Amino acid sequence: MPGRDGTDERADGMSEERRAFQAEVGRILDLMVHSVYSDKEIFLRELISNAADACDRLRYRAIAEPELLDGDAAFRIRIEVDKDARTIAIADNGEGMGREELVENLGTIARSGTAAFADRLTGDAKNDVALIGQFGVGFYSAFMVAERVRVVSRAAGADEAFAWESDGRGEFTVSEAEREPRGTEVRLHLREGEDEFLEPARLRSVVKTYSDHIAIPVEMEGETVNEASALWTRPRNEIEPEQYTEFYRHVGHAFDEPWLTLHFRAEGVIEYSGLLFVPTSRPFDLFNPDRKSALKLYVKRVFITDDAPELVPAWLRFLRGVVDSEDLPLNLSREMLQRNPVLRRIRDGLVRRVLGELKTKAEADGEGYETFWEAFGPVLKEGLYEDAGQREALLELARFRSTASEDWTTLAAYVERMREGQEAIYYIAGEEGAALAGSPHLEGFRARKVEVLLLQDPVDDFWVPAVGEYDGKQFVSVSRGGIDLGAIPLAENETPKEENEPEADIASLVALLKVTLGEAVKDVRGSETLTESAVRLVADEGDMDLHLERMLRRHGQIDGGASRRVLELNPRHRLVQGLARSMAAGEDRAAQLAPLLLDQARIAEGEAPEDPAAFARRLADALADSLPAE
Ligand code: ADP
Ligand code: MG
Repeated sequence: MPGRDGTDERADGMSEERRAFQAEVGRILDLMVHSVYSDKEIFLRELISNAADACDRLRYRAIAEPELLDGDAAFRIRIEVDKDARTIAIADNGEGMGREELVENLGTIARSGTAAFADRLTGDAKNDVALIGQFGVGFYSAFMVAERVRVVSRAAGADEAFAWESDGRGEFTVSEAEREPRGTEVRLHLREGEDEFLEPARLRSVVKTYSDHIAIPVEMEGETVNEASALWTRPRNEIEPEQYTEFYRHVGHAFDEPWLTLHFRAEGVIEYSGLLFVPTSRPFDLFNPDRKSALKLYVKRVFITDDAPELVPAWLRFLRGVVDSEDLPLNLSREMLQRNPVLRRIRDGLVRRVLGELKTKAEADGEGYETFWEAFGPVLKEGLYEDAGQREALLELARFRSTASEDWTTLAAYVERMREGQEAIYYIAGEEGAALAGSPHLEGFRARKVEVLLLQDPVDDFWVPAVGEYDGKQFVSVSRGGIDLGAIPLAENETPKEENEPEADIASLVALLKVTLGEAVKDVRGSETLTESAVRLVADEGDMDLHLERMLRRHGQIDGGASRRVLELNPRHRLVQGLARSMAAGEDRAAQLAPLLLDQARIAEGEAPEDPAAFARRLADALADSLPAE
């Protein structure tokens, strides 16, 4: 919320209210005023895009409230240049804005995550241009070329008009104003050195380049400059790639290039056309819980809403573009959108098309597809548990990190590489690549060259249990106790530790630890799979995966103490053998060290010791004992 800084009585008796921009807007404006962006001309694209959106919104509202149009249904955008005053004005007869809307829309950025975004701005031009590219700046880009911007607007149906004015440096003012027609005029007072934008020829070419696809006529000097027909209604072979790109930027409020463009017409029982895009880079708010899909729904060329969650499933929320239906009624209400059978079929059709196209891309350009997967894979994977019907298709599209190589792998390729005697697909879930790859849970698998998938996205904890298997093979977490790798031969270059180190009897050690650790563990067992670490914690068969439990706890889904784990001992490890021998010799070291063993296993899991201070003291004592006494 911008701060209210003061109200002044002006000479003409009208009141002027001065406000500060929201802090994040201030930082973005700083960037604009210092013009880090090389293509300054895009300010015009942004202002025309806003004007077109305002017309689209009014056209829709006028279906239910025709009086809003006041007899003028010919939507248009006008650009006027005043060379003497050195101004350009972009005027529309769209829905307009009242006082509060001017303050809200042009003083704040309502998108959630904006603050987090602004925090990433560093003042380093290169970094910031790249970030702005993902974020988009819209209206504020006017300050790249203007030293002062004045917006005068009259909301459709309202009697009064208001003016918003700012030099982009911290503050803006709002006051009453005169404006006869409804809609908004944005007037830019150009800065020194920006005179090229006073040349009509230059402006026309900018409109042609960036706004040709806008379906509302853009007029200059009495002529319409753009094509002024909806781009998705034109035949594909008449559309240039650049036109698709600029359309994508307009509908998606995006600054990057589309990675995938899907333009189609569905004919049959229901008819609709679609122009859909997959962005190249991940939008900054992709994982924001209140972020909605950015698809726009049109009915017979009339914009209806960009808030129709029923149009595509949430796991395709990165899609941008428009869907234009011939069968839905124009006066579509929110209630009618829900459970609408036509919408339902459109949605199924879109899902099928998008997944089919992704499959084609994956086959034709594996590397490009992996870049896509890196950006949007975690979102697509949500479909694995939300949409059982698409499970198979999504499992084919999924890519994974694994212990086999640095590259991404498919599940099919994993199955192809499975070792003789291996029956399950093994995975380890966790956050960080390096920590995961060094986990004690992997030791037995490495020794037998059994590949393990590294699942690093929070969503993996949900789909794996829901999906359960692929190609008849179970997904099994390596942090689960009781995995028997005995049937899989050791890798050739692996010297089985059992052969060099005679195994001391650990049975009495196990019994002692059980008694000493008591309730802190569910059980203590010798481990078949550990080769390097002394101990690890595993979930007992039938218990919840360790990582899943940690994650649910972090999100407040479960509370209370951690469930009890099984402590596994590596019977071949020096420490375990030493403890077994010291017990046999009648010493009580094992009982003293028991809590340290458990804490060690917790730390290897990325968990904290139960009592960190006690842990540190015990560790210091143990280290001191290992050094020569005086
Ligand atoms: P975006 O278009 O991505 O929402 P902008 O910064 O371009 O962001 O615009 C901010 C908001 O200001 C718009 O969402 C809209 O509500 C309002 N706005 C901007 N220009 C106009 C206009 N010409 N008519 C009506 N509203 C407008
Ligand atoms: Mg905009």
